[in-house]
Amino acid sequence: FNHVNDLAHIAQKIIDIVQKPFTLQNNMVSIGASIGISLYPNDAEDSEQLFRNADVAMYHAKQLGRNNYQFFTEQMNKEAKARLTNEANLKIGLNQQEFFNVYQPIINTHSNKAVGAELLMRWRHKNEIISPIEFITLAEELGMLIPMTEQAMERGFEQLHLWRKYRPDFYLSVNFSVKHFSHKNLLSSIRSLLNKFNLPATALKIEITESAFIVEPEQAIETMRQLVKMGVLLSLDDFGTGFSSLSYLKQLPLNVIKIDQSFVQGIGLDHKDEAIIEATLVLAQSLGMQCIAEGVETLEQLNYLVSRQCYYIQGYLYSKPLIAEDFIEKLK
Ligand code: C2E
Ligand code: CA
Ligand code: CA
Repeated sequence: FNHVNDLAHIAQKIIDIVQKPFTLQNNMVSIGASIGISLYPNDAEDSEQLFRNADVAMYHAKQLGRNNYQFFTEQMNKEAKARLTNEANLKIGLNQQEFFNVYQPIINTHSNKAVGAELLMRWRHKNEIISPIEFITLAEELGMLIPMTEQAMERGFEQLHLWRKYRPDFYLSVNFSVKHFSHKNLLSSIRSLLNKFNLPATALKIEITESAFIVEPEQAIETMRQLVKMGVLLSLDDFGTGFSSLSYLKQLPLNVIKIDQSFVQGIGLDHKDEAIIEATLVLAQSLGMQCIAEGVETLEQLNYLVSRQCYYIQGYLYSKPLIAEDFIEKLK
């Protein structure tokens, strides 16, 4: 077993053999294997460490899509350690309420007023504000995103309740991820949160991306139907950037399509982006859905969108995401 090549060969053999389908109670089944390998004395000096490193390598193999083998490297160790630190920090952060909301207005260009706001999460960690891009995926993997979103919605609804005193039809748009749709108590928890702040279901919009359909699409679609039945509105976020399947547009009770900022940025610069925007607008209109353009930063982009009948705008041109105190001041 001293030769790395031999080991690799053996690992692959094990994977191949394990993968062979077999019959179990009249069903064809197959299982997989992910293998991590660490070597003495290069990787560790005792068996305990050797096993730990093999485990790190196996985790890496799983991340690479399973059914493969990986040799342990020091880089993996660094990544595993960083991940552990992040995990611990995230858990502490949730307990110590280090997460807060910012809100970005969505403007109706007819009235030039905000009609709703998107809730975006932020993490204040060691005097630094951390972007959700850095923590949402990990939080989701750790099963923390649902409680985090619940807390965020609670804070958001409290604000929404105030905002609606100035703008009765104001809504809050909340980002949901894949996991939300397999969460058993989703509907009842949303219902009780709405009741707590005396809000109708129509005051809530839920933003989903196409990734929500990767796992158990039927389940996700069913949950969405129930939400809509309750009166909640659904937005399809980042449209055109995912695995865009037009059949979802047909199957889903969607109210809004959000045009992704990557297309908006191409206005005036790339006619392909413009073509995609125009096609999306036509599609939305003929399906009876509203369009919101995201990431609008310039007057040129705004004018382009308005001239093509896209009247709902979100972007730095109007406002960056704001903390609650600033948001209500602007609204007033
Ligand atoms: P998203 O849902 O597509 O949110 C829009 C992002 O675009 C926000 O970034 C917003 O600040 C940014 N943005 C808005 N207008 C402009 C503009 O004019 N120019 C530019 N360059 N950017 C603009 P943010 O807040 O960093 O959020 C990033 C992503 O993190 C979000 O993308 C969303 O996918 C995720 N996220 C944020 N909050 C939550 C949350 O509470 N739950 C979940 N599941 N995901 C969240
Ligand atoms: Ca969004
Ligand atoms: Ca988006």
